[in-house]
Amino acid sequence: MIPVSGATSVVGIIGRPVAHSLSPLMHNRAFAHLGMDWVYVPFEVREGELAAAAAGLRALSVKGVNVTVPHKTSVLPYLDELTPEAAAVGAVNTVINRGGRLVGDNTDGIGFVRSLREEAGFDPRGRRAVVLGAGGAARAVAMALAWAGCERIVVVNRTESKARALADAVARQGAEASGLPLAREALAEVVAEADLLVQATTLGMAGNPGLPVDADWLRPPLLVADVVYTPLETPLLRAAKARGCAVLPGWGMLLYQGAEAFERWTGVPAPTTVMREVLLAALTGRRSAGGDDA
Ligand code: NAP
Repeated sequence: MIPVSGATSVVGIIGRPVAHSLSPLMHNRAFAHLGMDWVYVPFEVREGELAAAAAGLRALSVKGVNVTVPHKTSVLPYLDELTPEAAAVGAVNTVINRGGRLVGDNTDGIGFVRSLREEAGFDPRGRRAVVLGAGGAARAVAMALAWAGCERIVVVNRTESKARALADAVARQGAEASGLPLAREALAEVVAEADLLVQATTLGMAGNPGLPVDADWLRPPLLVADVVYTPLETPLLRAAKARGCAVLPGWGMLLYQGAEAFERWTGVPAPTTVMREVLLAALTGRRSAGGDDA
């Protein structure tokens, strides 16, 4: 139990629903561990109430919030400023209140790259990656891989036009990028040439158990990462492990997007060991819950 004082700093999460979110658990454990007089609370915000929510954050001097589904894009017009990362991704998952000015940032992709480095010992610089998906998570991941110096990024998506549009956006960040449809012939070759495969579609979530690639294409030293974290071990990660590939589950991205947000709000290094501990304990106890991103 965290004692709340008259001087407690407040951060939180806005979204709908938010009751399932693991972020309060993760951040409050971090504050308690460091003995910080901060608290993280869930704020359920309906669509159409974002202007009022933004005004409320300013009026109540809330230090910052995470932003989750369905507000990551629709919140943009209510913010005073965007970081270059949030502007490039076109979505915000973290807001920092700088003396009444709401700054929108995006730590999803940066958190993913940090999870690659810290949990899998993988540096994207000069490497070749395949990103499956072209939705919000894929966009954040692909852009951050480009910023991290990934040499070549192939975006593969069911809807090909979206794969091409994302590849164009990634190419504008300076990486070599191309977009392909989720079709078996094309995929086998790009997976064989890749150092990293990132699964960033909703496939593999509880209730959506499909395998996006042929398991036979997964061969070491390919690193296979999934952004889905419910279940903790997706069918893709199970198949990759069985073929001897290193794997990185979706909790890594969840942990480090949170760590990056924590550091932006507080200026203090996030205690990732205790945050990982509480996150994994919660995920192990709720394997069958629906997956979401914050
Ligand atoms: P989104 O914007 O709705 O995008 C969904 C993506 O999945 C699209 O590329 C879509 O392809 C593809 N897709 C959906 N059903 C498919 C199917 N049956 N076959 C092939 N492709 C399919 O969703 P999102 O926000 O990117 O989220 C994607 C996943 O990432 C979710 O599971 C979410 O929980 C997870 N996530 C995790 C974190 C984390 O911190 N670990 C952070 C953010 C999100 P089309 O374009 O063809 O529709």
